[in-house]
Amino acid sequence: MSPTWRWSVVLSLALLGTVPLQAQPLQLHFMDVGQGDGAVLIAPGGQVVLFDDGLLNNCDKPVGYLRGLGIDHIDYHIASHYHSDHIGCAEEVLGRFPLTTAAIDRGGSYPSSTYALYADTVKDKRRTGQTGQKIVLGAGSARPVTIEIVALDGNGLATSNENDLSLVAVVHYGRFDAVMGGDLSGFKAQDYLDIESSVAPRVGQVEVYKVNHHCSAYSSNDTWLETIKPRIGIISVGKKNRYGHPAPDCLERLHDKGVVTYWTETGAGAEPEPDRDFVAGNIVVTTDGESNFTVTSDHAAPFYGPVTLTRLATSAAPLRDCSSTMPRPGA
Ligand SMILES: [Zn+2]
Repeated sequence: MSPTWRWSVVLSLALLGTVPLQAQPLQLHFMDVGQGDGAVLIAPGGQVVLFDDGLLNNCDKPVGYLRGLGIDHIDYHIASHYHSDHIGCAEEVLGRFPLTTAAIDRGGSYPSSTYALYADTVKDKRRTGQTGQKIVLGAGSARPVTIEIVALDGNGLATSNENDLSLVAVVHYGRFDAVMGGDLSGFKAQDYLDIESSVAPRVGQVEVYKVNHHCSAYSSNDTWLETIKPRIGIISVGKKNRYGHPAPDCLERLHDKGVVTYWTETGAGAEPEPDRDFVAGNIVVTTDGESNFTVTSDHAAPFYGPVTLTRLATSAAPLRDCSSTMPRPGA
């Protein structure tokens, strides 16, 4: 059932007086795009925001998924950085779902044909993000969605590593928060730097963490995890990838902090552990922003929540509270 249709049913029932009218939820869809990133936010007011758009030459996946959602445009495209596993489907996706407001990115340029195609696709809608910039969706509503850009371009550290230049965006909706930071690193190794430690305080505590850099060995350091204290981690990863993602070290750090993880595919590194790692395909997080959030997937088995929205410093709610009666968005 499409989200639009489902909510029109709820609205119709509410008008008939059979169920109370509830606030519409925020939806975050972490699409299975293979070894890349692509997530779509649908705000309660219907605004659509795309965080990266998928892997080059594998664009049927995001295009098909977005078509299944029934959307007809994209309000904002937010690019984490310019690698082809993050902006590889800009032309296909934005060709099918026109960009209406702005494409926000880290500015600058990158020497690749994928970057050139991206720049040519978003044209004059392109805007360079600014640290502290806020995109407010539903500004006149009781509970707007705010997307804050908390860092980009290495957060003041000098680097030319494209991963470490990733733009970091935090989604706020009432008491719910999520962070997406592209392929950011948290360790000084090879030509990577520890960008995560300086960015973490600007992120604050979140419920949902789109795990940096597909859970590479150099992402998700202890300072980062101890500061953002995520309840769940989304690992966007491709079957048989040549990078060994998700890396055992990264996954172990997540486990040590009690983070339950959802993977889009099986990857080619660490093995998922029963009860705390779920290979889930397309992953959908839904929240009312007030009381809880829920995770669903288009695979049958994984199901998570509703999880009470609480600050972990004061209260740790049960991590698994499963039910089979919740609707599955997009099902
Ligand atoms: Zn990547």
